[in-house]
Amino acid sequence: MKYLLYIPFLLFVFLAVSCTNGEKYVIEAIDNQEETHEIRQSVKPKQAIHAVDTTVIDHICVFGDHVFFSQPVPDEVKARMQGKSMKNQTRIGYDDLRYLTLPYYDFDGEVQSGEMVCHKAIAEDLVHIFRDLFAARYPIASIRLVDDFDADDESSMQANNTTCFNYRYISGTTMLSKHAFGLAVDINPLQNPCVRGNRVQPKTAVDFVDRDKDFPHKIDADDLCKRLFIARGFRWGGHWQGKKDWQHFEKKIR
Ligand SMILES: [Zn+2]
Repeated sequence: MKYLLYIPFLLFVFLAVSCTNGEKYVIEAIDNQEETHEIRQSVKPKQAIHAVDTTVIDHICVFGDHVFFSQPVPDEVKARMQGKSMKNQTRIGYDDLRYLTLPYYDFDGEVQSGEMVCHKAIAEDLVHIFRDLFAARYPIASIRLVDDFDADDESSMQANNTTCFNYRYISGTTMLSKHAFGLAVDINPLQNPCVRGNRVQPKTAVDFVDRDKDFPHKIDADDLCKRLFIARGFRWGGHWQGKKDWQHFEKKIR
């Protein structure tokens, strides 16, 4: 009977090993072992591995002392989402979603703990992608739930917030967005706006519409974030004709 106590530990080992099988997706930016070692030395641990309840996690990745993982949406997070990003409807429920803990480097180079809600079908992809971004010290302004902005996409974008799930329509249409199913992620939206004709979202991003200009945090074809998402089967809004959505990555799952 006492051997049952080892199950959570064995689960963790299994998941950690599963995670390393995803190494093939790590792009050259973190292939340099020397640099990886240096990063590990200089990062202050903010999340200890033992702090993770291994009985609830689905996917986990570790980089140095930092842990990236997904779990079913906890009750306290559901309470924050209800009536905001989660509306009363029958198309998607909490059981279809996962809550992610994602450490990241902010624009000041400080390590922060991000949180995100996504569809369970892409939780493993996102855990790996954000681990790889972290390993390369890819700067992200903010990763908070859109509920902290009352699920108002424009406010979240103006705050340069990286986010995923929000049950909403594509702006200006009656079609549900991929965000409504937690299958799309917007990265650093201020420097990477959505542009259709003269319409710019967020409105405050007009300085970043000209993609021939050079400026920090611009997602272009060579960008590491773009390459990591494409390597995992996502489509990029920067590739679209007509409307350009430089911040947007989405995955079709059916
Ligand atoms: Zn988007």
